[in-house]
Amino acid sequence: MARKQARPSATRQVTLEPLQITCRACGSRMRMGHHSHRTVTTLQGVTRLTLKVYRCRNTACPRFHQPTRPEEEGGWALPHGEFGLDVIALVGALRYQQQRSIPQIHEDLLRRGLVLAQRTVTDQLYRYEELLALHLADAQRLRERLSEQKQVILALDGLQPDVGHEVLWVLRDCGSGEVLVARSLLGATENDLVPLLEEAASICRQLDIPIVGVITDGQRSIRNAVAHALPGVPHQLCHFHYLREAAKPIAAADLHAKKELKKHVRGVRPLERELEERTDEEAEAVRHYCLAIRSALTDDGHPPLDADGLQLQERLKAIDDSISRVAEKRGFPTTGLSTTAPDHDRAAGPAGGTRSGSGAVPQSHRELLGRPLPMLPGHGTASHQQ
Ligand SMILES: [Zn+2]
Repeated sequence: MARKQARPSATRQVTLEPLQITCRACGSRMRMGHHSHRTVTTLQGVTRLTLKVYRCRNTACPRFHQPTRPEEEGGWALPHGEFGLDVIALVGALRYQQQRSIPQIHEDLLRRGLVLAQRTVTDQLYRYEELLALHLADAQRLRERLSEQKQVILALDGLQPDVGHEVLWVLRDCGSGEVLVARSLLGATENDLVPLLEEAASICRQLDIPIVGVITDGQRSIRNAVAHALPGVPHQLCHFHYLREAAKPIAAADLHAKKELKKHVRGVRPLERELEERTDEEAEAVRHYCLAIRSALTDDGHPPLDADGLQLQERLKAIDDSISRVAEKRGFPTTGLSTTAPDHDRAAGPAGGTRSGSGAVPQSHRELLGRPLPMLPGHGTASHQQ
């Protein structure tokens, strides 16, 4: 039946990427194939999902050209579902825990800002019932759906529509998006979760597909339950949070290093002002160096992977190296300048006065060169150490 009401447009955009981009069949690095889009209505609003779909490029691989979708996708909505799992969980909770009628649930959802027809509420309730009815009896269907899978990466999502509501726990396979177990539980303790994980493990045993990893948000009770029910199975927390936590001490040191580095390249502006009147080649060159420093100072990295301070240090070093090369070519004295590479010794000498007038490196340039670059502890070459 055609939709009577236009679906409201998305209020936010989220891009999802696979956490693992090595092929699960052959281990080679997959490449981005295409973007796929989905619009999902959750209790938070309408979200436009952009999904980066990867494919194995190894022609000898059994999964050659097979799409690999982001693991997180299934945590948003069921395959082909337009409504989030949280909406389904809420509809189920209102129906079965609070014995509300469909019109009452519909009203509740409208009050929360969702735009949907009453018939859609009924559909979501069916989805909820189907989810909870998933049973070992479905092993045949799962066997078909998972037949091409050599392994299961289990994701565990707990959806609690409101405080006090039961939590809808969904255990799914990240590779296929198939839900293995779904239960609505009042609690979220280790003892509540262990049976769910054991049920998933037993399904996988029946299908003879090993669970090779678990992805959760890592609450303590969940961590304990996974350790108990799936001993020895690697438990992966969300990559982003994991990385951010691990990088904290490095990020702090890097921030400090960046601050210190910046102190040494202040005063670019006065140099530029000094050159304002000049149009000769040399002034032009110095201006370009100033510009390069300016842009090095304003470009931010993307921590934690691209550390700001390290990036700045690399760029300043490149500028410094370039200036050294120029100085060497022109016989400019390198005293004070990075007292560096041994081959500078030749150029150093008393050559400072050999050029004068417009040919000489301007005083301002020397000042710029004369500032030694501080090194980040443990990084860079010894040649810059004073
Ligand atoms: Zn492959």
